[in-house]
Parts: sequence; C-alpha cells; structure tokens
Amino acid sequence: MAFDSLSNRLNKALRDLSGKGRLTEKNMEDMLKEVRIALLEADVNYKIVKDFLVRVKEKSLGTDVLEAVDPSSMVVKIVHDEIVELLGTQEATLNYAEDGMTVIMMVGLQGTGKTTSIAKVANLVKKKHNRNPLLVAADIIRPAAIEQLQTLGKSIDVEVFTKGIETPATETVKQAMLYAKEKGYDTVFIDTAGRLHIDEELMNELKEIENLVHPNDILLTVDAMTGQDIVQVAKSFHEQLNVTGLVVTKFDGDSRGGGVLSVRSITQVPVKFVGQGEKIDDLELFYPDRMADRILG
Ligand code: GDP
Repeated sequence: MAFDSLSNRLNKALRDLSGKGRLTEKNMEDMLKEVRIALLEADVNYKIVKDFLVRVKEKSLGTDVLEAVDPSSMVVKIVHDEIVELLGTQEATLNYAEDGMTVIMMVGLQGTGKTTSIAKVANLVKKKHNRNPLLVAADIIRPAAIEQLQTLGKSIDVEVFTKGIETPATETVKQAMLYAKEKGYDTVFIDTAGRLHIDEELMNELKEIENLVHPNDILLTVDAMTGQDIVQVAKSFHEQLNVTGLVVTKFDGDSRGGGVLSVRSITQVPVKFVGQGEKIDDLELFYPDRMADRILG
C-alpha cells in the first residue's frame, strides 16, 4: 500500500520522542531531521518538505512543546495537522449540478486507469448517491476502449452511449447530451481519449469537449506509481483545462506517496477519489484526515 514506508519512518521518528518526558531542543532537531528524511525518501517535493518542517517547528515552539507534560503527542498532533493541511483540509466531493444534469468529464493519460475509474465512480454515485448515470464512449483513439467501457457498463448495469469510432468525439458527446436529456439521466460521465504523452492534439480535443458541455467536474486520473510525475501531469492538464479533482489510481501498489502528498499544494487541485485495486468496488472517497491517520497510524 502507498505510504507504507513513509508511515514506518515517520512513526519511528515520532516514537523516538515519546517516553522522553520533557524534550530538549536537540530532541526536536533530531526528530525534524528524521521527518525530513522520511518525507524526502517518500519523494515529496523538496520545497514542500522545507515549508512543512518550518511550520512544524514554528507550531511546536509556539505551543511550548518543550515545556509540556506529554510533548511527543503534541508533536504527533502537529505533524498530523500539517499532513491534513497538505492533502487539503476538507474532503472534496463531486460538484453535482444544483438542478438539472451533472456532467463529469474524465481525462488522463493512457494506462492510468481512466476507463476503469469511470466505471468505479459511476457505480459509486449510483449506489451511494442514488444517481442515474450514463457513460459516454468518447475515446475513439484507443482500440477497444469502447468495448472496454461497454463491458464495464454491463457489469454495473449502466448504459453506455456510443456512436462508434467513425464519429468524431465531439459529435458523439453532442448526441449523448441530447440522448441523456431525453432519457432522463441525471449524471453523464464522458470517457475521453488518453495518450501516452500530453500533446497539443489531445489537449485541443479535450478543450473542445469542455467548451461544449461545461462539465461540473473534470476528473483527472493519475497513477500513484508514477510518483512526482503526478504533479507534472496534473500541472499540465490544469493549465489547459479546469481540472476540478484527481482520481489517484493504483494506490494499492507500493508507491512512495510523495506525488500524492505534493500535488495539491502545487496545483490546488484536490484528490477526490483513490483507486485501490482492479475491481469495481476498489474505490474510496478521499478523506485527508483519514489519510493522515493512516500515515501516522
Ligand atoms: P486507461 O487507459 O487510462 O483507460 O486505463 P484502464 O482503465 O484501461 O486501466 C489500465 C490498467 O490499470 C488496467 O489493467 C486496470 O485494471 C488497472 N487499474 C486501474 N485502476 C487500478 C487501481 O486502482 N489499482 C490497480 N492495481 N490497478 C488498476
């Protein structure tokens, strides 16, 4: 699981403080050094680590940790709160339209888990939020993307709208919107084309779809295993599209987690969902507080 190694190192650094009773400034410095190494080894962005440590130190001194009766648990709480701050203090849910249809556009590079994630999120909104979703197959580039979406749609009992690979993606989307209105669907998920790399053609197509439907959410899938690349990918997409949330996939792998910890403060885009496996139910809403608990658990 992502964060395992970070979690072990952080806990060790903080454990070394406990049982010491009163802390000296040297104890604090040693702990901060260890926390620094733990974060850097987890591949957290260098500048973020620097700021993180400054804040932990300031807060610790500000709350007179050195004079406290149980100083180590105060430090743990300070580190916990700073991790929550990094991840985004509030859980970010979907931006449902107040009335009328909600449109969710899914974007991401090929292989990041975009198609799988659409089915996972559609299944979640259907089961947990009582929505009536329609999936739109607007990825006409990757061979078999349409069939994959159809198979997934069938498995969650959700209709898939397609016009095949001969119809341009924007045309498919236009027709899908009319169809969804006519059939009374309240949540439309648009599966868009991915590429191996970000290129102008990909972005232009995505921008065209964005301008056409003005989605309530644009969710970008990023692969936890790619570490700091998450930040670069999120930045590039966000510069061109109004990305409103991330779906971090493959969190069940042994990624170091640094990309996930860095991405929000660099791009301001919150993580909304975490994919934890290949099955439809392997998806969780992202709660910064719970994630921090897990890291320090
Ligand atoms: P797309 O090209 O972005 O549409 O990617 P796919 O949805 O086809 O997924 C690519 C591969 O990643 C597939 O084998 C998926 O089963 C797998 N995958 C997607 N999400 C996860 C996840 O959260 N965990 C794991 N372990 N595998 C995932």
